[in-house]
Amino acid sequence: MFPAPDHPVELRELPLPELADGEALLAVECSEVCGTDVHLHRGRLAGVPYPLIPGHVAAGTLAKVRGDLRCVAGAPLQEGDRVTFLDVHRTCHRCWYCLVAKASTRCPERKVYGITYGAADGLCGGWSDYVHLLAGTRLIRLGNSTARDFLRGGCSLPTALHGLQRAQVQIGDSVLVLGIGPVGLSCIALARAAGAANVLAIGGPPNRVANALSMGADEVLVLSALPDDARARWVYERTHGRGADVVLEATGAPQAVVQAMRCARDAGRVVVIGQYTDHGEVAFNPHADLNKKHLDVLGCWGSDYSHFHRAVQVTGDARLGAPWRSLSVQEFALADAAAALAAVANGAVSKALLLP
Ligand SMILES: [Zn+2]
Ligand SMILES: [Zn+2]
Repeated sequence: MFPAPDHPVELRELPLPELADGEALLAVECSEVCGTDVHLHRGRLAGVPYPLIPGHVAAGTLAKVRGDLRCVAGAPLQEGDRVTFLDVHRTCHRCWYCLVAKASTRCPERKVYGITYGAADGLCGGWSDYVHLLAGTRLIRLGNSTARDFLRGGCSLPTALHGLQRAQVQIGDSVLVLGIGPVGLSCIALARAAGAANVLAIGGPPNRVANALSMGADEVLVLSALPDDARARWVYERTHGRGADVVLEATGAPQAVVQAMRCARDAGRVVVIGQYTDHGEVAFNPHADLNKKHLDVLGCWGSDYSHFHRAVQVTGDARLGAPWRSLSVQEFALADAAAALAAVANGAVSKALLLP
């Protein structure tokens, strides 16, 4: 667990919970280390209760079930079932954001396992042998997927699915993905699956280029190879001089949002998926970069049940899930979580799976 911001990762023995009605205990088979965990470890997210058991996405087997739990199809969930769960808990479905704006990922009631649930709330993070699944947690059967295969997409896949939903890629579109970390890589494969005819990517470090190509990118430009304006030219040269129909920003760098607008064609669409922590402000020209271009620029916050449900479908499907199975990922024992965190933080691996 993370005892406090910027403190070394600790291994602690905690008691197993007494289950209340409607609760379950998940024996974790696999969880992951993601960019959010790196930010959490450094204390860069607001409203996080330390000490904290990280790992907002995990999958495994139901070790104990108390009461009547059902999947979305209405079938009962039983001990021994292989499942994952929506990391967002307590979305209220009765507030203004849920009911009027129909933007449940902005519901103020929501709590997230491994991020806004701390160790004081119980075993509520995936870097653990067991996760205490509280009443009302949405469980999803893994079906044809395995815990490991689902975690190869991990939290990046529902995030990318939400981004692609916002992007409304049309068959034959050219799509540019900025960033080739886990979210960008998932965006590449999903853009291809959504019917893009030309998928370009810009990102780094160079050791991730092979992954971007295996996920379905036609061409990948290493970020450090060209300066800002030359990168936009690189895109225009590959999109009939117009720019990309859709640009998906998945970098986390504020400047990349401006780059995304400049690489999009007139009347194109930009979806911002990468800005999950506050890295400050950036300047752009509202006339030249936005209004005169007649651009749609969309934010995209969090994921809901539908994105997790589809993520399980994608990773369990022989054809759709093939790109994620081609990804090179590194597996670490739970006891080596500190090493896994360091490997993700310094970019040595693009995805680290944790196995209890
Ligand atoms: Zn994550
Ligand atoms: Zn709500």
